[in-house]
Amino acid sequence: MLQAYMIYSRFLGPSEGAGLVFAHSVREARKVGWQRTSGDFTDDFLDFAAKRIRNSPWILGEANVNKLASDEPHVIDNPRSCSICEHWGHSPIGNDELCEDCRPAPAPVESRPCPNCGSNRRTSLAGNIVCLGCGMYYAPAREEEE
Ligand SMILES: [Zn+2]
Ligand SMILES: [Zn+2]
Repeated sequence: MLQAYMIYSRFLGPSEGAGLVFAHSVREARKVGWQRTSGDFTDDFLDFAAKRIRNSPWILGEANVNKLASDEPHVIDNPRSCSICEHWGHSPIGNDELCEDCRPAPAPVESRPCPNCGSNRRTSLAGNIVCLGCGMYYAPAREEEE
């Protein structure tokens, strides 16, 4: 079974650039990763580190499906990363291209449904109340006059 490893320069640290390798062992991850990326993260094989990404079963979603099925070690050149913090490997990256640390908390649901269509409404980041059904905006001030 393939495991996920992060490859990077031991000297610079993974925050300065890291690659994703699926392999069976640290040794294999270093070997496969080096063959593919030598020079990208470091010029020195002794400085080239591979570290198991633990407790992150979702990272398998980043693997090549065919190579995962055939148990073939491989490198993911550009793992999907968060569009804000630019990191990967610490939490799943959603379809919004954000990690869990950077994703804003969902806006609270308004207690009263939309007068237009009856769907739930949320407060937008700009402070307006927006209907999730028909998309109509309501200014909070006008809301209080109702
Ligand atoms: Zn992030
Ligand atoms: Zn509505």
